[in-house]
Amino acid sequence: MKTDVLIVGAGFSGSVVARELAERGYEVLVIDKRDHIGGNAYDRLDEHGVLIHPYGPHIFHTNADRIAEYLSQFTDWRPYEHRVLAKVEEKLVPIPINIDTVNALYGLDLDEDSIQGFYDSVREPREKIRTSEDVVVNAVGQDLYEKFFRGYTRKQWGLDPSELNASVAARVPTRTNRDDRYFTDKFQKMPAEGYTRMFERMLDHPSIKVELGVDFFEVRERVEASHIVYTGPIDAFYAHCYGKLPYRSLRFEHEHLSDTEWYQSVGTVNFPNDYDYTRTTEFKHLTGQQHRGTSLVREFPTAEGDPYYPVPRPENEALFKKYERLAEQEANVTFVGRLAQYRYYNMDQCVGAALKSVEYILEKMGADAGK
Ligand code: FAD
Ligand code: UDP
Repeated sequence: MKTDVLIVGAGFSGSVVARELAERGYEVLVIDKRDHIGGNAYDRLDEHGVLIHPYGPHIFHTNADRIAEYLSQFTDWRPYEHRVLAKVEEKLVPIPINIDTVNALYGLDLDEDSIQGFYDSVREPREKIRTSEDVVVNAVGQDLYEKFFRGYTRKQWGLDPSELNASVAARVPTRTNRDDRYFTDKFQKMPAEGYTRMFERMLDHPSIKVELGVDFFEVRERVEASHIVYTGPIDAFYAHCYGKLPYRSLRFEHEHLSDTEWYQSVGTVNFPNDYDYTRTTEFKHLTGQQHRGTSLVREFPTAEGDPYYPVPRPENEALFKKYERLAEQEANVTFVGRLAQYRYYNMDQCVGAALKSVEYILEKMGADAGK
């Protein structure tokens, strides 16, 4: 395995770094232990011809023009604004919580002038916002917290919101208007021909070679590369020498309904308090595909399985820091991405972090060449 740069992982992080280094004249070999590119953003047609996301729904959104422009080199886009309803007390109501959510649940008739007064009457101000419980209770009080956040979070993470950093629940804001979009970013679009097609174009470069079904830890000894870019879980790179860094996993249950054109009215329905799964997503909403049937996925959170989410809480950050200190001493290895940097990155943030890492990698390689 001889190359200038070996990249472990063909997801957003690995693919962006691969392309950038190839553009700068380096020979790049990308390996992935899975049999496809795209990492968790991979999509494909299921056996019924519906475009699905095997690793759960991926909706692209960003406020960074630079990142949208970067990816636009490899794909056209289709506008899509994601909407989510939560099933609470047999009602389907908008999440993030907005005026209509509150009105529907409590039989009120609030508007933009009176909603903040309502929140003020139910919120329980917390002096310090440290945990996910603090974020929500401080904003909307105990009842809405229990209806929308406590059960969902316990199911998703196997932890109480009081055990998770504020940043987790802070991903879902509280609205004082009627905006029922899940995201408010200025750029909300899906790759017109899907994510995998976009990755194919990104990796289509004379200086990039891709080998699939290759586990880094099985070929590690045979690698001859000036530099390694590693995008897998950082603790695995160091054989879990300080202990296992927790990553939350999911089991995906896919279903196709051949005689149902539409199953639900929006892309995703959340189930904070029912079932063992957190949400049901119907892909055709996301992709705009027309088909007489429809394909869905339900997400069942698990402790074991492929690593999908870093688990943001103080003791995990502390353990990550120990691994990060080892990583910082590596002259010929750079750690990039959601698993390697142990950050709850969205796709656009992975692209940003990968672009940033390129400068750093070039510096390290330059320093090495000068030795
Ligand atoms: P990954 O995509 O995880 O890629 C890492 C790759 O490395 C994998 O393909 C893995 O097989 C490979 N690898 C690991 N170890 C080895 C090894 N030893 N040898 C060889 N290969 C290895 N973001 C959004 O912006 N919008 C969304 O709607 C959204 N929805 C999501 C829904 C779910 C259920 C999940 C789990 C994530 C979601 N994300 C979303 C986040 C998004 O998936 C990530 O930000 C992004 O895909 C991470 O890219 P990455 O390249 O860092 O990691
Ligand atoms: N969350 C919740 N109820 C919801 C939606 C989200 O409690 O209806 C909390 C939960 O802890 C979740 C976090 O907010 O893990 C972030 O939600 P997001 O939809 O961003 O999760 P992701 O899409 O990354 O799985």
